[in-house]
Amino acid sequence: MRVFIAGLDTETNTFSPIPTSIKGFEDGFLAHGDATKRPENYCSAQLFVWCRLAEAKGYEVVEGLCSYAEPAGVITRAAYETLRDEILDGVRAAMPVDVVLLALHGAMVADGYDDCEGDILTRVRQIVGPKAAVGGELDLHCHITEAMVTQATALVAYKEYPHVDIPERAAELFALCEDAAKGRTKPVMAAFDCRMIGTFRTTEQPLRGFVDKMKALEGKDGILSVSLGHGFPYGDVKDEGVKTLVVADGDRTKADKLARELGQEVFAMREKIAPRFLTVDESLDEGLAHNGNPVVIADVTDNAGGGAPGDSTFFLRRMLDRGITDVATGYYWDPIAVRFCMDAGVGANLDLRVGGKCGPASGDPVDLRVTVRAVADQVTQRFGEAPDPMGPSVWVSARGIDLVLTTLRTQVFHPEGMTKLGIDLSNRKLVIVKSTQHFHAGYAPIAARVLYAAAPGALTKDFAAIPYRNITRPYWPKVANPFA
Ligand SMILES: [Zn+2]
Repeated sequence: MRVFIAGLDTETNTFSPIPTSIKGFEDGFLAHGDATKRPENYCSAQLFVWCRLAEAKGYEVVEGLCSYAEPAGVITRAAYETLRDEILDGVRAAMPVDVVLLALHGAMVADGYDDCEGDILTRVRQIVGPKAAVGGELDLHCHITEAMVTQATALVAYKEYPHVDIPERAAELFALCEDAAKGRTKPVMAAFDCRMIGTFRTTEQPLRGFVDKMKALEGKDGILSVSLGHGFPYGDVKDEGVKTLVVADGDRTKADKLARELGQEVFAMREKIAPRFLTVDESLDEGLAHNGNPVVIADVTDNAGGGAPGDSTFFLRRMLDRGITDVATGYYWDPIAVRFCMDAGVGANLDLRVGGKCGPASGDPVDLRVTVRAVADQVTQRFGEAPDPMGPSVWVSARGIDLVLTTLRTQVFHPEGMTKLGIDLSNRKLVIVKSTQHFHAGYAPIAARVLYAAAPGALTKDFAAIPYRNITRPYWPKVANPFA
């Protein structure tokens, strides 16, 4: 058996003012066939799993491109076509192949391509022919499209949010495609559109139970795999939305039936699984009233991982106006401010304009007299076990608030992004983190309490009000019952 592996991953926020260019992929991760020879990271984790499993069985592995860009706006056509074509050239050069395994996202949008993954899978299929097994691992926040379902042999999406299960899903996809290539199974896929748009947490019931149920259905009664694609609400493409996906062995009717049943179950839970968000003031009040340190508040609308700028100041402005102290907060993406602080040096006091630079969704800049407490040429934080670079970063203090400013735009994954700079989070009353949910894996263990607050900002949680132009079918919560 000969197995080709590659990866291309970013989540496109079509409303973001930040273009995604080749530079964005270079800043994230870009390896031309040697990702598994470098330290493992968020984007290459699947390739490591596939390599290990294939080599253990004596299969030949050919590794192609592996690249990741921090989520931002639409990918430039040149960047997308360059990276896609490198994958396709790799497949062509590796022929004949029995299995192609691709680490994709499912919500990539490029100039001229609303469904990048469908485009990649279609072109790979044209090269390898109908007999080869073509598998794609997708982010949980994927748009599942007709092209993806018809061109791939099998698709498996992460089940967990935070995405802590990427390696497990990679191993499952490997087994699915290996079995198909050896003729042991005949995977057929069916998807069901739940006609819902939103973000949902698998750490909380009743969705926690649904994830466990999906796992329990797999591997018996001819069901090979079950996924729930949550969709990515800030991708304005016609296929955006929550969808179930079932891979069955040879029985399309069975796949259709289970996808529909599970989809209807998710739809019935919609009100219960829609996360509630506090306002900024409500979250500050609740945090300050809570007995125990620290209370961690997620600033969910400024999550760089969803393509937000990561420099919004709504929380900061409000805390200053209210005179709230004993706070640590980050990460503010502000390369200019980082540069000023590094030039001034540790111990310096200076006037610094922080944040609010990218557009209306960032709020207004905040002018502070800060003390530079720490500077570092490179800070990394863990996401799972993989290091996530924050670039040159600084810790500054002003009026009882400690801020972490970074050069690379990234969300808060793990407390070490702050503690490595010297901030002791255990004695802060509040820790405000720019993240929607991924912070939870690292912060829940140290938090006296976790709160979620929706400030104004890029990733609005008012899903009925997002000005979509390409989503024309009815969806909840814009329509109470889109199936009526
Ligand atoms: Zn995701």
